[in-house]
Amino acid sequence: MIIGIHMSDKHKLQQEMSNANSRYSSLIDAAFDAIITMDGKQNIQFFNHAAENTFGYSADEVIGKSITKLMQKKFRPNHSDYIKQFTDSDIQSRDMSSRVMIMAVKKDNTEFPVEITISKISVNGKIEFTTIIRDLSNRIAFIEKLQHQVNTDNLTGLYNRNYFNSKLKDIYHQYKRFGHSFCVLMLDLDRFKMVNDSYGHLIGDKVLQEFSKKVQQVLREVDLLARFGGEEFIVLLPNTKLEAAKDVADRIRKRVSKQRVLSQNHEPVTFTVSIGVAEIGTDDEKESIIKLADEALYRAKNNGRNRVSD
Ligand code: GH3
Ligand code: MG
Ligand code: MG
Repeated sequence: MIIGIHMSDKHKLQQEMSNANSRYSSLIDAAFDAIITMDGKQNIQFFNHAAENTFGYSADEVIGKSITKLMQKKFRPNHSDYIKQFTDSDIQSRDMSSRVMIMAVKKDNTEFPVEITISKISVNGKIEFTTIIRDLSNRIAFIEKLQHQVNTDNLTGLYNRNYFNSKLKDIYHQYKRFGHSFCVLMLDLDRFKMVNDSYGHLIGDKVLQEFSKKVQQVLREVDLLARFGGEEFIVLLPNTKLEAAKDVADRIRKRVSKQRVLSQNHEPVTFTVSIGVAEIGTDDEKESIIKLADEALYRAKNNGRNRVSD
C-alpha cells in the first residue's frame, strides 16, 4: 500500500517535470531572440530556432563549437578575459551592448548589430552561460531612415536648416576653442517667382534640383550645403577666411549663370543667384553670422542681383 502511494507520487513528479520541460522548450523555440547556451569553455551547447535563423547555422553545425565563431574577429581575443571576469564576479547577468555596440557574424560572414545579455548559472557545480541575442539590423535601419528624414530636404536631397544649425553649433564651438575661422554663404535665386510664373512650378522644382547639384560640385567635401527654405540655400565653409569664401561664392555664381534647364517646350531656362558672404568675428554669437550673411545677400540683391557681396 505504502509502496503504491510512492510510485504514484513519483509518476506525478515525472509527469510534472516532463510538462515543465515541454513548456520550457516550446517557449525557447517560439522566442523571437536567439538563445544560446554555452559551457564553461564557451562551447555552444544549445542553439534555439531563432539563433538558427539569425546566424544561418543549424544547431548541429555549431553545437560543441566555440561561441567566438559568431563574433567579429576583433572581439574574439578579449572574449575569454571578459568571460573569466564575469565568471569570477558576483554578478549573475550582464547587458553587453550597454558597453559597446557589438557586431555579430552570420554563417555567410555578413556582420550585423546586436544587443546581448548574458547570464550564468551553476549546473551540478559547473558554470554554464546563457546568452540572449537580439538582431538590431531592422531597428537601426529604421532609426537611420528617420534620422535621414529629419535632416534632409525631400526635393533636393540636401541637408535642411535643422541639420545646418546643429553643424553650425559644432563649428562655432571649435572656433571658440581653437580659433579656426569659418564663413557662411547665404544664397537666394534671383526672380525665382518669375521662373515659376513663366514655366510652372515643376520646372521651378527642377531648377532647384539642378542648382543644388551645381553648387555641390563647386564645394569641398568638408563644406556643408543646406536648403535653408524655399529658394534660399546656405553654405558653411570651415577653416575659411573671407577672401577665399568670396572666391568660392563667385565660382558658384558663374557656374549657375551658365546652367540651363529645359522647359516643358524644350526651351532653355536660365537662372542666376545672389550670394551674401560673412566671416565669423571675435565677438560674434553663432546666430549673428547668419544675420551678417543675410544682410550681405540683401546688398547683393540691391546692387542688381547675380552678384556676390560681403
Ligand atoms: P528675389 O530676386 O528678390 O529673390 O525674387 P524672388 O522672386 O526669387 O523672391 P520671392 O521671395 O518673391 O519668391 C520666391 C519664390 O520661390 C516664391 C515661391 O513660390 C518660390 N518657391 C519657394 N519654394 C519653392 C519650391 O519648393 N518649388 C518651387 N517651384 N518654387 C518655390
Ligand atoms: Mg529669390
Ligand atoms: Mg527668397
